[in-house]
Amino acid sequence: MLRCLTLTSDSDTKKLRNIRDNSQWIDAVEIRLDLCSHKNEGCVASILEVAREASLSVVILSFRREEDGGKQTALSEAERLHLLEQLLCPGISHVDLEWGVTAPGVEKRAAELGIRVIRSLHDFKGVPHSMKEMIEESAAAGEIPKMACYPNSSRDVLELLQMADETSHIRDKIVLGMGAFGFFSRVAPQLCGSILSFCSVGERTGAPGQTSPQELEEVYRVSKQNSRSVYFGIIGNPVLHSKSPQLHNPWFAEVRMDAIYVPFQVDDVGLFMRIAKQLGVRGFSVTVPHKQKIIQHIDRVEDAVKRIGSCNTVIRTSEGWIGSNTDYEGFLTPLKGTDVLSGGKHALVIGAGGVARTVVYALVQAGLSVSIVNRTDEKAAGLAAEFGVTRQSIHSQITPGKFQLIVQTTSAGMEPNTETDPLPAYQFKGSEIVYELIYAPERTRFLQRAEDAGCQTISGREMLHAQAQLQFQQFSSAYNLEVE
Ligand code: NAP
Repeated sequence: MLRCLTLTSDSDTKKLRNIRDNSQWIDAVEIRLDLCSHKNEGCVASILEVAREASLSVVILSFRREEDGGKQTALSEAERLHLLEQLLCPGISHVDLEWGVTAPGVEKRAAELGIRVIRSLHDFKGVPHSMKEMIEESAAAGEIPKMACYPNSSRDVLELLQMADETSHIRDKIVLGMGAFGFFSRVAPQLCGSILSFCSVGERTGAPGQTSPQELEEVYRVSKQNSRSVYFGIIGNPVLHSKSPQLHNPWFAEVRMDAIYVPFQVDDVGLFMRIAKQLGVRGFSVTVPHKQKIIQHIDRVEDAVKRIGSCNTVIRTSEGWIGSNTDYEGFLTPLKGTDVLSGGKHALVIGAGGVARTVVYALVQAGLSVSIVNRTDEKAAGLAAEFGVTRQSIHSQITPGKFQLIVQTTSAGMEPNTETDPLPAYQFKGSEIVYELIYAPERTRFLQRAEDAGCQTISGREMLHAQAQLQFQQFSSAYNLEVE
């Protein structure tokens, strides 16, 4: 699988530095003439020299028009193609020509120099229908067909995968999805039958959704992915902020499993189950807003999922898709070293959203008496009634030290709103254990206040790690299971 750095920097000097700085993670570079301040032989020659130094044998020359997502507007179409032809030279391995462009001069010069044509189509609005013919026609002409489209939904992703499937007999092709729904295809190009993935560095990306060469390799091990690789992932909407790929992928690498964990943006859980089947996904984590909805789409769930009404882990087994909730055990893990689970203790839970359900259930199961406080009082009342615990108004005076454990489950204080405090009037006594579920930032204003008052604190990262480790145990057993 090739990793191609698209040179997007404004400055030609920075372009050279970008190749040198990233050479350990890339196999190829794309010179985008439309992003070069000097569109001349000198600029191309200096890039080729650095590419040679870095032992990169694949160098793609492109000159992208505005309608294809590029910056070229200054020249006429004839001038653009003339310049492209003039700048082809030994050392360039591929030249990109857009679908529908007639450029006999470029093609002739490319053939003379043994440069292969990449025939590209860019759709920034959606996934075009029936691309099979274009891909087959281009491949039959000895070119490498490239299709970059912009899926806007899970349905579009299915369409993209269908096209990849219909053209699976064509080995040399580039098929990728842009944007958040297409991100999976950039970090797991194998899933769309693509031979290459583009990446970029700096403020400007080559196309929406491109990530850095370092992330592509160090997190997703793109160069090692192959037809036997096994895929896991996380579904959510949004999902790209998730830190789970940074946990699971190194763990898979550590135990030498050829498995990759990929973020899938999903707006329709039912359609994702079809995607998962088509891609052979063996298991996935589930995050907001799908933890409840997923339950109706899987074959069996463990008892805790039924009781909590929330599922964050799904694996594929010989009995079908099985759902569990590792948030529950993961939440309790950091508390095991404290004395709050020793009986007769009182806990205050701030928040009444999705994860608060798991927290309240876990604390009740562990024998604590629980009280809930939430910005929207009716939600606190509903959750309290469901689990047989008490609630109090967010405006009520809470006696410092009344609760031995305070669990903060709201998103108040989460990045980027790090100044928000979910319970600003509460004065910590210093004897409480304060457990913050937010993990970005690692220390919220609320947790810092508790620490300054002398409280023992637990950060959301501890739960994040504990629940992910429990998921990883399930994923690694699913890895070894051959399922039809
Ligand atoms: P959710 O279902 O959307 O619930 C959000 C909760 O936050 C609700 O109680 C909501 O109150 C409250 N809230 C939101 N903004 C607020 C504000 N400005 N002031 C006061 N309360 C506010 O979300 P969730 O799935 O429960 O997740 C909540 C947090 O837990 C997130 O930060 C998430 O990252 C974190 N989390 C961490 C882990 C971990 O492993 N560490 C696991 C799961 C979740 P209303 O009812 O009034 O709207």
